[in-house]
Amino acid sequence: MSPDLHQRRLPSQQVGEFTVTALSDGYLGARLDFLANISPEDAAQLQLAAGISDPAAIHINCYLVQGRGRTILVDAGAGGLNQWGGELLNHLARAGVQPADIDTVLLTHAHPDHIGGLIDAAGGMAFANAELVVHERELAFWEDDGNLGQASERARGNFLLARSVFERYRKNLRPFTTNDVLPGISAQALPGHTAGHCGYRFESGGGGLLIWGDIVHFPHIQIAHPQVTIAFDHDPLVSAATRARLLDIASSDHLMVAGMHLGALGFARIERFASGYFVVYET
Ligand SMILES: [Zn+2]
Ligand SMILES: [Zn+2]
Repeated sequence: MSPDLHQRRLPSQQVGEFTVTALSDGYLGARLDFLANISPEDAAQLQLAAGISDPAAIHINCYLVQGRGRTILVDAGAGGLNQWGGELLNHLARAGVQPADIDTVLLTHAHPDHIGGLIDAAGGMAFANAELVVHERELAFWEDDGNLGQASERARGNFLLARSVFERYRKNLRPFTTNDVLPGISAQALPGHTAGHCGYRFESGGGGLLIWGDIVHFPHIQIAHPQVTIAFDHDPLVSAATRARLLDIASSDHLMVAGMHLGALGFARIERFASGYFVVYET
């Protein structure tokens, strides 16, 4: 973590009764040739133009939501898995919250950089008192033996990790099928990235926020060029269509958005520009 991130206050937004705080988990290493529909050279150029010094590093956010009597974590970062992330608990402590205080974990999807942090160093539940809330489609996908049988070696590791996390939380697992997750919080299906990928919409006191999961991995590239997809997408065509539709809505509605790979500032609005869009961070 850079020293200035230690000093800076944690990015936080008030959405009616909800206080939403972005907690960085750190970075995961990727490669720009994981992207499709753009050359690595053009992708690197966009990153450098945005002032990003390590163009292939993907930043990981989690979000703490406090309000209406609850202490909620949205996704849990990579937890140091594959030497990715691992900073979440430090930032949670800076927010004055202990792991045992988390009563709910809302999962956008079950990729390793979102669930690695659910398991602690001893292999147990990192959030012992939390109910793990996940879309039923996401859970069913990772638990399906047919899907596991067809998986590549790399994807096989993702299946085994997802299964072991679900197993640890089994008695506290709440799969949902309808969008009403909790009072003031609704799930929004954002298809394409994984089988059950979804965002969470917070509405309170006239304020609104959408935490959009993995709609982008490289915000300065994929918001400018929504057709650019990444090798992690389960269905790239559908994920590009979902991103294009959502950027259109977010810019038209002036909606505040947050995302697991939106960057360390955590919250932004989307503005329309020529044939694409650009991101304006909330500071
Ligand atoms: Zn993902
Ligand atoms: Zn991710």
